[in-house]
Amino acid sequence: MACTVTLLAHTPEPDAIVAAAARLCYRDVTASELLSGEEEKLSEGLIGHLWKSGHLSTFEHASFTFAVDGLSRVASHQLVRHRMASFSQQSQRYVKMDGGESAVVPPTVGAVPEAAALFRQQARSAHEAYGKLLELGIPAEDARFILPHGWETRLVLTMNARELHHFFHLRLCRRAQWEIRELARQMLAECRRAAPVLFRKAGPSCIFGPCGEAKPCGKPYKDMTDLLDGETAE
Ligand SMILES: Cc1cc2nc3c(=O)[nH]c(=O)nc-3n(C[C@H](O)[C@H](O)[C@H](O)COP(=O)(O)OP(=O)(O)OC[C@H]3O[C@@H](n4cnc5c(N)ncnc54)[C@H](O)[C@@H]3O)c2cc1C
Repeated sequence: MACTVTLLAHTPEPDAIVAAAARLCYRDVTASELLSGEEEKLSEGLIGHLWKSGHLSTFEHASFTFAVDGLSRVASHQLVRHRMASFSQQSQRYVKMDGGESAVVPPTVGAVPEAAALFRQQARSAHEAYGKLLELGIPAEDARFILPHGWETRLVLTMNARELHHFFHLRLCRRAQWEIRELARQMLAECRRAAPVLFRKAGPSCIFGPCGEAKPCGKPYKDMTDLLDGETAE
C-alpha cells in the first residue's frame, strides 16, 4: 500500500508572502503596504523572474509541514538525505512495532502471487522473532535490528518552498525510486492546492523543457496532469 501524506500546516497565504518578499527588494514599499492590494499578487512573470535571476531566497519565506504515514524505512532513508528539511520520525526505541502487514510491499512483489506470499511470510516471521526478543527482555532498540528494511514508519517533515522545488525536481523524475516519487507526487498535489502560483512550475525538468538526466528514462511526462495522476510505481 502507498504512503499517505497530510499537509498539517503552512505559512498563511504562501503565494502572497513570497510576492511580498520579492517586491520589498525591488520597490520602495513599507511593511504595511506589502500585503495590501495589488502588491500581494504573485504572478507567473514575477516567479519567472525570480527563477531566472536566482533570487530564490524569496521562496524560503513559505514553509509547509506534512505528516507521512506508511512510508517504508527504505524511502525514509532517502528522504532524510534532504538536509534543508526538518524531520521528526517515529522512534523504534520507544514505540513497539505492530505486527501483521507492517512491511511495505513493493508493487513488483505484490504483482507476483508467489513473491508476495514469500515476502509476507518472511516479514511476519521477522516480526515474530522481534516479539520473542522483546519477551526475552531484549530492549526494543536492539530487537528492532531484525525487522525488514521495508518496515513502515511515520514522520512529520517541514520544508520551505525553495527546498520543496528542489525536492520535486529530483524526486519526481521517473528515475527516482517509486516510493519516494509517490511521496513527492502527493506532496506536490497538496502544495499546489495551498500555493497554486508558487508551485505551478514545480517538478522534473522534462515537464518544462529538455530532460536534464545523463541517462533519460525515455518516458517524459506529457504535462502536470500526467505527473499528478500518473502511475508512479513503475
Ligand atoms: C535518482 C537519485 C539517486 C540517488 N542515488 C544515490 C546513491 O546511490 N547514493 C547516495 O549516497 N545518494 C544517492 N542519492 C541522494 C543524493 O546524492 C542527495 O543526497 C539527495 O538527493 C539530497 O539532495 P541534495 O543534497 O541536493 O539536497 P539537500 O540536502 O536537500 O540540499 C539542497 C541544496 O542545498 C545545498 N547544500 C546542502 N548541503 C550542502 C553542503 N553541505 N554543501 C554545499 N551545498 C549544500 C545544495 O545546493 C543542495 O542541492 C540519490 C538521489 C537521487 C534523486
